Amino acid sequence: MKTLNCIECDTQYDPGEVQYFCRCGGLLEFRYEGIEADPALFDSRKASLHPLDRSGVWRFRELLPDFSPGSHVTQLEGGTRLYQKPLLNQKLGVEKVYLKHEGENPTGSFKDRGMTVAVSAAVNLKSTSIACASTGNTSASLASYAASCGLRSIVFLPSGKVSMSKISQALAYGAEVCAVKGDFDEALELVQKICMDYGVYLVNSLNPFRLEGQKSIMWETLQDLGWKVPDWIIVPGGNLGNTSAFGKAFMEAKKFGWIDRLPRLLVVQAEGANPFKLSFENGLTNLKSVKAETMATAIRIGNPVNFPKAKRVIQALNGKVIDVSEDQIKSAKRTLDRSGVGAEPASACSIAGLQKMVKCGEIKSSDLVVCVLTGNILKDSHANEMVHKTGATWHEVVDEREVVKKLELSKVK
Ligand SMILES: *Cc1c(COP(=O)(O)O)cnc(C)c1O
Ligand SMILES: [Zn+2]
Repeated sequence: MKTLNCIECDTQYDPGEVQYFCRCGGLLEFRYEGIEADPALFDSRKASLHPLDRSGVWRFRELLPDFSPGSHVTQLEGGTRLYQKPLLNQKLGVEKVYLKHEGENPTGSFKDRGMTVAVSAAVNLKSTSIACASTGNTSASLASYAASCGLRSIVFLPSGKVSMSKISQALAYGAEVCAVKGDFDEALELVQKICMDYGVYLVNSLNPFRLEGQKSIMWETLQDLGWKVPDWIIVPGGNLGNTSAFGKAFMEAKKFGWIDRLPRLLVVQAEGANPFKLSFENGLTNLKSVKAETMATAIRIGNPVNFPKAKRVIQALNGKVIDVSEDQIKSAKRTLDRSGVGAEPASACSIAGLQKMVKCGEIKSSDLVVCVLTGNILKDSHANEMVHKTGATWHEVVDEREVVKKLELSKVK
C-alpha cells in the first residue's frame, strides 16, 4: 500500500490531487507498507531493455508513487558512475572513498532524479504548465523534462546569482525565465504564490514526488556496492532535499530487508549558508534562517524548506552537520578536479567535509565512505577559471621559443 501523509499530523491525502502542504502546514511524504520487492529484482532489471527498468530511478518503482500507464516521463536518468580514484584516496588518507557522480545525469545534476517523478506527477494530474524557483540546476532539469512532454516551463531565479551555464541551459530547453530581484528564498516565496493562485504545478523540493525520485541515488549506490552498507555518506546541504531523501531511502531499505544496518550521514554546508549546521549545534530544536552567501551557488540557501524532514533523518541515522569555508571549498574542488573527476563547487563540499572529518579523526582511514557529487564540472565554468586558471596553468604564447620557455621544456638529444 502506498499513501501520502503529513509528517506532523498523519492526515492522509490523495496523491492524485494537487497538494503541496498539509492543512496544518506540515510537509507531506509518501509511505509504503507490505511492499514485495528485493535487491535481486532490481539487479535483474539492469539487464532489461525496458525504459522503466533501465532508468536508475524507475528501476526501483515498487517504492515510488504509482501513475496511470503512459504518464511516466523518463530520460533514463540515474545509472551514474560510482568512481574509485586510488590517487585521490591516497591524498585524502582514506582507503575506500567512492564518488557517486550525480553530475552524470541527463541535464548534469541529481535534480533529474526527482524531476522525472515530479513531471510524471504533473502529466498524471493533467497539468499543462510547471514552475520552480531554483539556484540553477532545478530549472535546467525542469525545462528539459517539460520539453520532453510538451509542458510549459517557468523558472524563477535569483537575479545575478545563478551560474550563466545553468540559465542558458534552461533557456535552451525552452523555459521562460523570471529573474527575481532578491535571493533564492525570496524567489521560492514568489513562485509558491504564483503556483497556488494561478494553477501552475510547483515542482520545488517541497514537492513530495521529487524527494521520492532522489531516494534512488542511495539505492543505486547500494546496488553498485553489492548491497554493502557504507560507514559514511557525505552530501552537501542546501534545501536539504537530498538529506531527507537519503535518510528515507535507507530507512525504507532496512524496513523491507534489503540492508540490515544504517550508514551515518554527514551533511556539509558552506559557512556562509549554514542554518542547518547552526541548528545542529543547538540540538536541532529549531531553524533560524540566515542571509546566504557562498561561491557554491547551488547551496546558497538561507531557509531550507525540508528542515523538518532533514532533522528527523539526522536523528535516525546518527548523522552530523558541519560547515566548510570558501577556501576549503576551493581547495577541495582543486583536489577533486585534479583527480580527473570534476564537479561544480557545491559538490566539492562533500570532499571538503570529508577532509575536515579525517583531520579531526571522526572518519577513519579504514571507513567505507561515499561522497555524493551533485553537479557536473561544466555547470560553473566561471568557478573553474577562478579555481584553476593561474600562472602555472595558463600561458599566452606566440611562437615555439615562448612555448619552450613557458613550459620549461628541454630538447631531446
Ligand atoms: C540543488 C543542489 C544542491 C542542494 O541539494 P539539496 O537537496 O537542496 O540540499 C547541491 N548541489 C547541487 C549541484 C545542486 O544542484
Ligand atoms: Zn498535518
